[in-house]
Amino acid sequence: MLFLVDDADLVRRQLAGEDLAFPPAAPLRDDISTDEITPAYVCYYYDETLGDFPYLGMRAGGEFPLERGTVRAGGFVCSVSGKRRGKGSSREQSPYAELTAGIRLVVAESIERIYRENCQNLGLLTSTDFSVLERVRRGEEIPLSAFTSGEGEITRGIIEYGGLFQYNVARLQGKVVVPRPETPPRPMSLAEKILARHWVTDLAANDVGVPAVAPGDEGFVRTDIRFSHEYVTPMAAIFWRDYVGAEEPIVDPASVFFFRDHLTFLELAMTDERKAQGLLDIALELKRQQEDFAERQGVRLYGELPRGGPGVPVQGSEAICHSKILEQHALPGQLVIGSDSHTPHAGAIGALAFGVGTTAVFNSWMTKDVRIEVPPSVLIRVNGQRPENVTAKDFMLQILRHPYVKDGHAIGKIVEYAGDAVAQLSVDERATMTNMAAEVGAFTGIIRPDEQVVAFLARERGLPPAEVRQMLDGLCSDEGAAFETVIDIDASTLRPMLALPGDPGNGLFIDELGARVRVDIAYGGSCTAGKKEDMDMYARVFRDALEQGRRVHPDVRCFIQCGSQEVKRYCDEQGYLDVFARVGAAFIEPSCGACINAGPGVSYDRDTVTVSAINRNFPGRSGPGQLYLASPYTTAASAVAGYVTAWQPLRGASPG
Ligand code: SF4
Repeated sequence: MLFLVDDADLVRRQLAGEDLAFPPAAPLRDDISTDEITPAYVCYYYDETLGDFPYLGMRAGGEFPLERGTVRAGGFVCSVSGKRRGKGSSREQSPYAELTAGIRLVVAESIERIYRENCQNLGLLTSTDFSVLERVRRGEEIPLSAFTSGEGEITRGIIEYGGLFQYNVARLQGKVVVPRPETPPRPMSLAEKILARHWVTDLAANDVGVPAVAPGDEGFVRTDIRFSHEYVTPMAAIFWRDYVGAEEPIVDPASVFFFRDHLTFLELAMTDERKAQGLLDIALELKRQQEDFAERQGVRLYGELPRGGPGVPVQGSEAICHSKILEQHALPGQLVIGSDSHTPHAGAIGALAFGVGTTAVFNSWMTKDVRIEVPPSVLIRVNGQRPENVTAKDFMLQILRHPYVKDGHAIGKIVEYAGDAVAQLSVDERATMTNMAAEVGAFTGIIRPDEQVVAFLARERGLPPAEVRQMLDGLCSDEGAAFETVIDIDASTLRPMLALPGDPGNGLFIDELGARVRVDIAYGGSCTAGKKEDMDMYARVFRDALEQGRRVHPDVRCFIQCGSQEVKRYCDEQGYLDVFARVGAAFIEPSCGACINAGPGVSYDRDTVTVSAINRNFPGRSGPGQLYLASPYTTAASAVAGYVTAWQPLRGASPG
């Protein structure tokens, strides 16, 4: 057994062969994110080589005690940790690295939804029952029922068949019949209604739809859109080749999208040491694999902009996946799955969108559906008039420090955002909230679509308003819909916030910060903060600064990176590209970039301080430095001031 404890020496002693008693002498690590299990650069691998790397990014007592190959060499079968195991990104490389290192069982106090599903889909057992440890230690044969008790029929079947693909084949062969939910008509939440409309009742006959669903109902739901990016597509394509056959066509390729967004700028951010290890070549293989699979399958790939030839720096991407899905594809009432934890982004227009792992993506190419257990719904209402310098990001940092969320009670649940302060937000700002449902740990985030959505779809896609209004029919939570918890936030009491380094839940008002925090890097970009309205906010602050004869502080490197070519065109039209250039902010073409430690704006040492408008600041997420999360206004104002500060929207007053 490997106890992941907050003590580097104790971890090293286990790797050297020492068996620890339970409970171990040091506390079990809580909040082990998938970034810590498999840091981003490890995910350039997409085969069994991943088994060399589990926990390489895990901090224990401030150190990183695990090295390449140590878990595999230790012969561990069981990995044990504390609360919120597997939080963060939905990357399936994490459980796959554990599995291929020899781990067969993960035990933790609580386990995040996507990570747990990924484990089940791959055939890696999970438990929150620590009594199982003694049985493992004794070498006892443990019946599968120890891991399936309390699970629904489908999850039980997937665990018993040893993974999702094996289960789905049995489904297609008629060996497994998924029972229909028996839920009678009831008041439903918005998300429950969308799930009921998409419920697969007969896969072979293409029958979809049930009158009602309720939390706990298990089944499969038909997708309208499936997408994946270059971190995931190659691994799923290999599963496809190995299990289905390389030449077999995927089902309905017109509703599948691939994205080259995460690693476009990697060569500009990767250290020479990593390049010397051959990691850049491995990472570029992800791009080639995805391009090849897209071409063979006739799938639309939002790719990389053309390079100018050898030695010419990469030019960027067409778009970040979430940005493009919201801008161009998702519609109210649709069901969207993506290979990424921030897929709920599209919930901003009232689509039900959620992240799934590689195995689920690969299976959806075959069945067009995805497994679901209806989660309970939670209502978060934000009412009141927000101050002008308080944004959706500040709402989210306040929500993330709410005890219900911070203690993990929202994990795996549907979060519906409502209230007049939310209704007043644009679709772009709403997307910051639904996007950051991932940081809440929620299954998804969604907002009732309204006239803002009608205007957005008319403006951005040229859809006739009457047609959009028809789509909105019934897309609201019923009177009497069951919400497990209602959280109320008063927007009028909020002030600009930031999250201290380490976790998005470390929120506080900026004016509570105490000592001045100098800034080395200011980064405004990512799916969360690379939208048109985010650009409006950066430009608004920078224009103020320019009017006062100020520029980005000489000690700060400032980067503005948009989420899509469409956003770049908008910046050009609005004159923002000129504003960014004059104020001294480097404008970068679309890509995930620094958000995933793979582009301009990453930190290179522990002392570097970054203020960033991205969505998460887990250790190592954007380099080894200290990363403070903040709104676009705060990020831009801090870039000018040279220290973390809120923007004061008094025309003529200096930022900060
Ligand atoms: S910008 Fe960041 S959070 Fe968004 S999809 Fe890319 S890596 Fe994920």
